[in-house]
Amino acid sequence: MPDFSIGVDLGGTNLRIAAITSDGQLLEKVTLDTKVAFGPDHVVGEMCDAILRLSNQYRGGGALPDAGIGIPGIIDLEAGVVRTSANLPGWAEYPVRREIESRLGARVFLDNDAKLAALGEQWLGAARGVNNMAMITLGTGIGGAIVLDGKIFHGMNGMAGEFGHVTVEPEGAPCGCGNRGCSERYASATALVRMAREMIAAGQAPELAKAAASDPEFGARMIYDLAMRGDEPAKQVFRRFGRALGMMLADIVNVLNLEMYVIGGGVCSAWDAFAPIMFEELRSRSTVYAATAPDEAFEKAAASAAPVATRPRKTIITRAILGSDAGLFGGARLPALGV
Ligand SMILES: [Zn+2]
Repeated sequence: MPDFSIGVDLGGTNLRIAAITSDGQLLEKVTLDTKVAFGPDHVVGEMCDAILRLSNQYRGGGALPDAGIGIPGIIDLEAGVVRTSANLPGWAEYPVRREIESRLGARVFLDNDAKLAALGEQWLGAARGVNNMAMITLGTGIGGAIVLDGKIFHGMNGMAGEFGHVTVEPEGAPCGCGNRGCSERYASATALVRMAREMIAAGQAPELAKAAASDPEFGARMIYDLAMRGDEPAKQVFRRFGRALGMMLADIVNVLNLEMYVIGGGVCSAWDAFAPIMFEELRSRSTVYAATAPDEAFEKAAASAAPVATRPRKTIITRAILGSDAGLFGGARLPALGV
């Protein structure tokens, strides 16, 4: 029987459960709707049914495997309780770990979803073989996580890595966190749409206006398509996005001096539209990056498939490769780390 564990990604829309072996092979993945309206007990019940089904299918006669569960929001890791979660209304103060453990009779580990995505990319994805890295997830907001020596760095309260609330514009757009000009107000999917709508309202973006009027689901994808077709206002929106991301990265790179920074999340597919300005901004604002950016020697070593450890020590900024499965792999990895 395979040596495996269970990874769970509990999102506000989808609930995904996977059985993954200790060497990273995906045995099976189940995707369910998260029925948030039915409350946490119902969702946890469905989750546990799926975990038990997968566990029984692959465990033979052995003990139930451990599970690692990613949850959006602020999690009290010691108490195993969700403190707040914008995506899971009604879950605040819910004793999620205790409820799941008592239904399963197995050990359960929790963490924030963005942190588990980072762990997944570090274990099996873009940062495989890299012990010290950070991940920036560009989605509705910006998720962040720091991995040191192959383990998630939580900080004192589990709140380390809030890259989305680094200030990039002192008097900028107000943010839900109470600050103004946070990076996620400029470099997230929500921010793209807001900035595009502001240009439309100012009468500066006729093509964007047409796209927004023709489709109620006007979003990042349409702005990207227009930018790629050369529409100047759409390109401007992505320049603003890339600039904010570059400013945020400059701060992180200066402070942490890590080996790798992985950029993931849905908006990452618009890489071509924002990456050039992001790198330009990063290089001009971060002395650490300017001194450690990859050069020709590094590119050669990387292309020759030399082991990561023997390559020149450079700061690598790269795209995530596991997509939305990163959090499932990170969840399955969590029990082995014993935290
Ligand atoms: Zn903020």
